[in-house]
Amino acid sequence: MIDGETRLVGLIGWPVAHSLSPALHNAAFAAEALNWRYLPLPVRPGEVAPAVRGLAALGFRGANVTVPHKRAVLEALDVLSPEAAALGAVNTIVVEHETEGRPVLQGHNTDVPGFIEALRAGGFEPQATRAVVVGAGGAARAAVYGLLQAGCHHVTIVNRSYERAYDLIVDLDVPDPAELETESCGLDNLVEAAYQADLLVNATPVGLWPQAEETIWPAQTPFPAHLTVLDMVYHPNQTRLLQQAQRAGARAIGGLDMLLRQGARSWELWTGRPAPLEVMRAACEPIEKRR
Ligand code: NAP
Repeated sequence: MIDGETRLVGLIGWPVAHSLSPALHNAAFAAEALNWRYLPLPVRPGEVAPAVRGLAALGFRGANVTVPHKRAVLEALDVLSPEAAALGAVNTIVVEHETEGRPVLQGHNTDVPGFIEALRAGGFEPQATRAVVVGAGGAARAAVYGLLQAGCHHVTIVNRSYERAYDLIVDLDVPDPAELETESCGLDNLVEAAYQADLLVNATPVGLWPQAEETIWPAQTPFPAHLTVLDMVYHPNQTRLLQQAQRAGARAIGGLDMLLRQGARSWELWTGRPAPLEVMRAACEPIEKRR
């Protein structure tokens, strides 16, 4: 029941109608008997700053932020976590309601821990490994930052447009000691880079429904069996890329686990409690199957 004590969080994005987040967060609130609700909050481009100020004015505890607002939201926030500051992107807002003075708006990025936790849960430890990240958008930034923080020795960024990969490297401002190199190259170099790596990450929408037959890996090229692959696409969770990997005997990790884990981290920032991850997983798997 919604009453005067109900605490509110939500999802700011455009569009938000097909998001799994309301289902997984509300299932977790119900399982933990918390009088909280998670609402879809469609916010048009250009309206993000007033929307965020409105969250604070309306007494919301916070929100998730998704496409296309992850960068634009920064100007409306008071403080950023180290991950959010390094990436220049926020996916979670926490509103601290001070007893005196105005609320403080904090920006966090839980894509980073969500990605690293999904890798480890899938059996891959990034310490002292080599990785190839395909893509140079927000998701790729989170992956590259997380891998370097977790002790990965070498990351090759492969992107359709070289300029955006270059910008990623400049923006992340990686310290660059001898054992930690970051390169970029065009998509043609993907196969060569992947054969020399331990991990391949797809941080592009290639393979996303309804183009579920597409894959970043060339059809006629044998897939390296030694690789671990994490595909950030989660609709479908079993992408063509993951099927290619599994057929070759490689380890394959789907994007849904990362989505769940970044959501669980947001939930913990708002509530201060451990998130019921399996409840959240159970809430979104039937929706995924129906879609
Ligand atoms: P984004 O900022 O729009 O970046 C997309 C990147 O993919 C760009 O580097 C773009 O290359 C590249 N790309 C797009 N279409 C391509 C194509 N047909 N061929 C080759 N490269 C292509 O998007 P994002 O926010 O980083 O998200 C990327 C994907 O990750 C999305 O599918 C998103 O749903 C998913 N994601 C999943 C999670 C999760 O929790 N599982 C979290 C975040 C994101 P250019 O630079 O050349 O345009």
